Amino acid sequence: MRISVVGCGFVGLTTGVALAHLGYRVHLVDINKNRLSSITEGESPFYEPLLDKMLMTGLKNKTITMGSDIEKAVKTSKFIIIAVQTPVDKGGSSNLSFLLKCSRSIARSLSAGKIIIIKSTVPPGTTLNKVVPILESDSGLKAGKDFGIVMNPEFLQEGRAIKDTLEPSRIIVGSLKKKHGEQVMSLFHSIDAPKLITDIPTAEMIKLVSNCFLATKISFANEIANLCEKVGVDVVEVMDGVGLDDRIGRRFLNAGLGFGGSCLPKDLSALIAFSRNHDLNLRLLKATESVNSAQPLRAVDLLEETLGSLKGKKIAILGLAFKSGVDDVRDTRALPIATELVSRGATVMGYDPLANENFQKLLPSISLKPSIKDALFGADGCIIQTEEKEFAKLRQQDFSGMRNRFVIDGRRVIQSPKKLTDFGINIKAIGLGDTKSVRGKGGSSAK
Ligand code: NAD
Repeated sequence: MRISVVGCGFVGLTTGVALAHLGYRVHLVDINKNRLSSITEGESPFYEPLLDKMLMTGLKNKTITMGSDIEKAVKTSKFIIIAVQTPVDKGGSSNLSFLLKCSRSIARSLSAGKIIIIKSTVPPGTTLNKVVPILESDSGLKAGKDFGIVMNPEFLQEGRAIKDTLEPSRIIVGSLKKKHGEQVMSLFHSIDAPKLITDIPTAEMIKLVSNCFLATKISFANEIANLCEKVGVDVVEVMDGVGLDDRIGRRFLNAGLGFGGSCLPKDLSALIAFSRNHDLNLRLLKATESVNSAQPLRAVDLLEETLGSLKGKKIAILGLAFKSGVDDVRDTRALPIATELVSRGATVMGYDPLANENFQKLLPSISLKPSIKDALFGADGCIIQTEEKEFAKLRQQDFSGMRNRFVIDGRRVIQSPKKLTDFGINIKAIGLGDTKSVRGKGGSSAK
């Protein structure tokens, strides 16, 4: 049985490679020729652990093929998975142009018996109100009767995409006709995970709501971090305690400089815009968004509180990707931080083990360095922006090249700030204030 995957980004390529690993014959389709030629060489166009190795295996044993001809792919496959991008437009709504264009191409060669699976994240109603009419009118076929239409949202996280695909938290399949949902679910019969078949709008909503909830957890932790900082309580310990409650859970309660990436900010914005179109003001999600916009600037304010005016100061940013272990800079918090530093007159040096090249394209004006040492050399201050392991291991001597040894730990990676402080390194961290205002006279920490 052959499965075609249209769109070879993080989701499409990972899905295709994982399905080949499960024993299916997979055909990958993309319109981006550079992407295709890199995949043909067995090289993923982006960094993702395990992906290159598994892609190479699929290419060698010929379970994975690829091309740019969608019509041919549709004709030769039973299942067609759509995994093209759905970014947001300037007004914050989902931009469905890639999805609709791709649906039009698919419809041209659609024949009876095929099942179309939408993996792209879309607002509720998109599949039935926008994709199905295109598929039906351009093919002359009837959805649910002649061909199957299914929504199978993706929950993978970059940096652990293969693991998340083969060991997912759950598999959600929304379908117009139950039998098509069951056929799609049976593709994943060898995967042990909670499985739920719903209707299509519910599956679309589950995906967006999941990401909005995660985003809200992060903004909640960040808002509490700002309070903790003011009163001298450590937010990490607070969230460790809060997270012990299994109704809450510890994950996604790490305070820091806010969330970025290709999913959380965009899905949050898409659900807010979607509800606006339905005359509903989602106040909680708007607050989540506004906390997230302000949070990266907290690092810049902390710098200024200590260094005074940033005009003429050299500031290093360690970590430029949207999180550690990836080269993806989409909506990275390093961008508003660097832009704000530059607007306050600072010179910015940056370093990331994987994302220097991608970040340079985003902000050509800042100077990117090949190592931590080079980035810190001559700096008046530094902001740790991702949770890279190498940042957690920083020792006193790593800061020796700085003109002024002042560090903002924006992701709480430094395990023993006290050790570094003892060596004269000035550290400030998100959610870790030095005020003792709530400890009373002589009240001390339990440590
Ligand atoms: P991406 O931008 O990395 O990749 C999309 C790919 O689709 C590109 O290679 C593009 O060239 C290709 N494409 C666009 N139009 C095409 C067409 N007509 N025919 C063939 N190929 C076409 O996107 P992504 O990050 O993989 O995300 C894809 C979808 O999955 C989005 O809706 C996203 O919200 C969702 N999603 C992403 C993640 C993630 O972590 N990246 C996780 C869950 C869900």
